[in-house]
Amino acid sequence: MDQQLSLEQAKEMAFSLNIEQVEFDKLLDNVAGDELLNRYAPDGICQIDPRNSNLVIYNSARAKRIHTTAPAKAPEPKSFCPICEGKSSDILDLAHHSEGFTFINKNLYPIFHPIDQIPDENADYLAHEDPEHKGRASYGFHFLQWTSSLHDRDWQNIPFEDALITFQRLCKLEELLLCQPTDFMVHSRLTKNDKVISGYVSIIKNYGATAGASLTHGHQQIAYSNILPQHFFNNLRFRKRMGKSFSEYMQEENPAFLKVKDYGDLQLMVPYFMKRPLDMLLMVKDTKKRYLHELTDKEQEQTVVAIQESIKAIIDLMEGMGMTPAYNLIVNNGPGCGLYIELLPKTQLMGGYEQIGLFVCQSNAAESAAQLRRQLAC
Ligand SMILES: [Zn+2]
Repeated sequence: MDQQLSLEQAKEMAFSLNIEQVEFDKLLDNVAGDELLNRYAPDGICQIDPRNSNLVIYNSARAKRIHTTAPAKAPEPKSFCPICEGKSSDILDLAHHSEGFTFINKNLYPIFHPIDQIPDENADYLAHEDPEHKGRASYGFHFLQWTSSLHDRDWQNIPFEDALITFQRLCKLEELLLCQPTDFMVHSRLTKNDKVISGYVSIIKNYGATAGASLTHGHQQIAYSNILPQHFFNNLRFRKRMGKSFSEYMQEENPAFLKVKDYGDLQLMVPYFMKRPLDMLLMVKDTKKRYLHELTDKEQEQTVVAIQESIKAIIDLMEGMGMTPAYNLIVNNGPGCGLYIELLPKTQLMGGYEQIGLFVCQSNAAESAAQLRRQLAC
């Protein structure tokens, strides 16, 4: 990258350098009053497919994004990156690395955005009555965390100490949003010590164009919303059905030969129901943990080592297979967990069979686990 975002430039773009010191009301005003974000605000409506409870949120303005409407050509010209050029939204949080820094800002094309009238609603979306099919209100924030200010750095190639700093800022952001003191968001849960948890924080990462990443500069997406995504709702349903969390079930039931690596307080495995080659689950052994911010220092450190190693393995193995590396990372947190992280490499595309819930997988779980173990041992 010819140009990279300097610390001075970043500081000029900063609404705050430490999000912990910003009162939630001020943060809300900043997001709700951002003219750029308002220009691309989502429709604020969520519909539910009554067959399978798939949730659909609409952002008709999102199609106007420059990098989605530009003629498809791969890869993007390396000379332009809006992040490196400082063409993005206010920075909300910044932490120094040994080289460069990590920061959090607002997504200019948010999937959730504050709305004027917060509806009085049931947090359980299946209990939502909607005879006229107008959909449910959906609202919240959509933030981005840049793993490093340096364009070509991401989890797989930054030093552990820097990766840990990035991860710790992510944990802190999750906590700040979930534990914010206002009534902006529906209460999703009361914890044992009566700490109120508000809304849902969904953390995902798209890496590579085929995994949906529209920017090549490495980042995580953080959506804070009144909507519990279906995948996390399924975790909750699993717990109700089985009387234990999915992560507890998997640690008991997944065959030992599918274990990829034991990190002490975490375990990396290929699930016996692997849908795509190299799919992995990173399970926190303490299945009472439901959120990233509940991890101990030691668990945080092991999580970062495991994330760095597994992502590097995915990238190296996909390159070895002649593919352009691409994957999704999904943090499974929230009321139904057992905290766990899913790593889903784009080793195969979705076809028609997959759309009907029948995944045709071009490998098997034992083979993938063996490949991953060999790669991690390198
Ligand atoms: Zn960049």
